[in-house]
Amino acid sequence: MDLENRSIIITGASSGIGAAAALLFAAEGANVVLGARRSVELEAFAGSINRGNGRAVYLSGDVKDKGYADALVDLATKEFGGLHGAFNNAGIVGEMGPIPDMGLANWNDVISVNLTAAFLAAKAQIPAMTKQGGGSIVFTSSFVGFSNGGMPGMGAYAASKAGLIGLVQSLASDHAAEGVRINALLPGGTVTPAGGEGNPDVLEFIANLHPMKRMASAKEIAQAAVFLLSDRSSFMTGSPMIVDGGMSVRLT
Ligand code: NAP
Repeated sequence: MDLENRSIIITGASSGIGAAAALLFAAEGANVVLGARRSVELEAFAGSINRGNGRAVYLSGDVKDKGYADALVDLATKEFGGLHGAFNNAGIVGEMGPIPDMGLANWNDVISVNLTAAFLAAKAQIPAMTKQGGGSIVFTSSFVGFSNGGMPGMGAYAASKAGLIGLVQSLASDHAAEGVRINALLPGGTVTPAGGEGNPDVLEFIANLHPMKRMASAKEIAQAAVFLLSDRSSFMTGSPMIVDGGMSVRLT
């Protein structure tokens, strides 16, 4: 198992990619700390992992709060004796529309959840990992804001996800010598509630943007996160890892 006895925080674990990651990381031997705002869903996923001989705890909260980032690290340390990995994956799309029509409140909200929360997570997680000799942190970015990802009406989201890549590169260079690897994962369109799940027209539109003519399953993205969190990616840091069904190499 690729994550045996690793203690790993997963945010956005109540739904979509984060929920699939929680189940897969546990199946790969990790002890997982699940985070998101909705506690009913977190409790259900943690319960299912624990009944299946995995180890999971959860704590609900808002990734915009510094205290929540610290509390997740404290929980991992208390329950599992330290912190080896983090999949900082919580995110929102926010309201869509051209920037001239977009309210500042929406801009601020999207930047806070998708980018400022990454700053808070890094501040909490890196010292815990350096103290024990290293670790691996993965931030979920997106094909939006990257090559061929100029999606209309997604200015705030694109800015937040492109900003994450810059943050990851700087963090990676600052902490590589301490043994902390920090990478970004850039999913293409993925079938989740945020990715249009339940809306066949949206799913078809997004699927057709990809050279593979389909969207990813949440598990396919979680598999890439397992790779980045495991020793199989031991020489990778500061990388924007694209898992997008060819979106970034499409011609038009
Ligand atoms: P999702 O099913 O809507 O999941 C989003 C998760 O983020 C939920 O667990 C949600 O939990 C959590 N979350 C949102 N705001 C939060 C907050 N303020 N504090 C704590 N948790 C919060 O969407 P998804 O598609 O799995 O998205 C996961 C990540 O992948 C996001 O960063 C997204 O931008 C990225 N991504 C998605 C796609 C796609 O096509 N689906 C493509 C590229 C990148 P609560 O509501 O319970 O708080």
